[in-house]
Amino acid sequence: MCGAVRFTAVGMRTEITACHCDMCRRWSSGPFFAVGCERLELEDEDVLGVISSSSWAERGFCRSCGSSLFYRITAPGKLQGATTVSLGTLDDQGGLTLVKEWFIDKRPEAYALAGEHECVTEAQVFAMYGGDSGELAP
Ligand SMILES: [Zn+2]
Ligand SMILES: [Zn+2]
Repeated sequence: MCGAVRFTAVGMRTEITACHCDMCRRWSSGPFFAVGCERLELEDEDVLGVISSSSWAERGFCRSCGSSLFYRITAPGKLQGATTVSLGTLDDQGGLTLVKEWFIDKRPEAYALAGEHECVTEAQVFAMYGGDSGELAP
């Protein structure tokens, strides 16, 4: 929001995912809309905050204005380092397609996302990734 943290999402995909899990909704005041990338190139980390939000993932935010910036998997394994950036941080949000909603059963009934795309329940996430939390998603 304030522009103090600037980064380039290298190898950014064109697919948007939305996560309705409890943590993402608290972090984003709604679904966490995210776009995957291969890695982040941060221009300046002086005001970058990173919080370990679970034993397997961390979340980056701006310590100047509080904006949510990215989610990154830290647990060892094939997903380690997988990073999704907050859709709202992108200067150009054109040409992207919503492809998946995580934790669809945690979505409040007040809103729904339009269009045809995959929807995954909490139980399905746990079956896919194991563990007892959805923090491996999105
Ligand atoms: Zn989530
Ligand atoms: Zn900021």
